Amino acid sequence: AVKDQGKNSILCFSEVEKPVDVRRLMLESGLRKALANNELFLVYQPQMAIQNEDMTGMEALLRWEHPELGVISPYEFIPIAEESGLIVPIGEWILRTACLQMKHWHKQGYPSLRMAVNLSVRQLLEPQLVDMVANVLKDTDFDPALLDLEITESMKIEDMDHMFHKLFELKKLGVNLVLDDFGTGYSSLSYLRKLPVDKLKVNQTFIRELTLSTNHAPIVRSVISMAKDLGIRTVAEGIESKEHLSILQQYQCDEIQGYVYSRPLLSKDMETFIHSHKHKKPHHTK
Ligand code: C2E
Ligand code: MG
Ligand code: MG
Ligand code: MG
Repeated sequence: AVKDQGKNSILCFSEVEKPVDVRRLMLESGLRKALANNELFLVYQPQMAIQNEDMTGMEALLRWEHPELGVISPYEFIPIAEESGLIVPIGEWILRTACLQMKHWHKQGYPSLRMAVNLSVRQLLEPQLVDMVANVLKDTDFDPALLDLEITESMKIEDMDHMFHKLFELKKLGVNLVLDDFGTGYSSLSYLRKLPVDKLKVNQTFIRELTLSTNHAPIVRSVISMAKDLGIRTVAEGIESKEHLSILQQYQCDEIQGYVYSRPLLSKDMETFIHSHKHKKPHHTK
């Protein structure tokens, strides 16, 4: 069986030969209980329209408070959740929790706020994914037009080709598809023409070096203008400074997500952010 897996078997062998990583084992076994033990929670980071600084919505980001190791970064435990398949039940919990939470804010008087949820590659491979999303939308009575599903673009092209059908099925539910970390893969441009993409998020690494580098500014500018030509909205994430904000304003990026506005927030703090943001804004209804 190992031989049949072709090139993957090489990866398996080298991993087996590594010394046992105690932390990794703790994370693997801990993750199995994390959901049932209420150790997982979501934080939310605002997304703002760049032209009038109006809040458009937010991205849900997963956190895990391990009983002994403290809060673990998703960069560390999401890959483990993917390998073990635990991302499937966890992913359903994430979507349901995010939709329920947003539904609550809709009812509080902010009916146009959008919710963005990350989907992992492993979830996209799951045959039940489209049904799961449809069920959560139905159970939570959530308007699919206000749900953004973020898929990361850095996956292998074979995976992407395999997923085209799945992505079109998701689109049929009325949700929006967002290409996350855009620009990390080498075939980014061809995806944009083939996939039913509504939005793209410019990779943070381009943003981070926007003023330091002479190369990144033209890349960011042309990604944004190309997306615009294709009718795709653009979000710049990882914006930490006013300086970057004004560059992206010049480039006519649509939305901003970053520490310049807010770090990811616990739901109660997000609630305060929503209220205070709306109060601060002058009314511009006519
Ligand atoms: P992502 O989806 O690209 O999320 C953006 C990451 O950038 C988040 O890291 C966010 O906290 C961080 N960020 C936002 N603004 C700034 C900024 O101004 N400066 C800097 N330095 N960082 C900023 P986070 O929350 O650690 O998540 C990391 C990655 O883990 C995510 O990248 C996503 O790929 C994955 N992830 C997080 N939550 C979930 C989830 O619920 N499901 C899945 N499948 N993956 C998730
Ligand atoms: Mg994301
Ligand atoms: Mg990502
Ligand atoms: Mg991203």
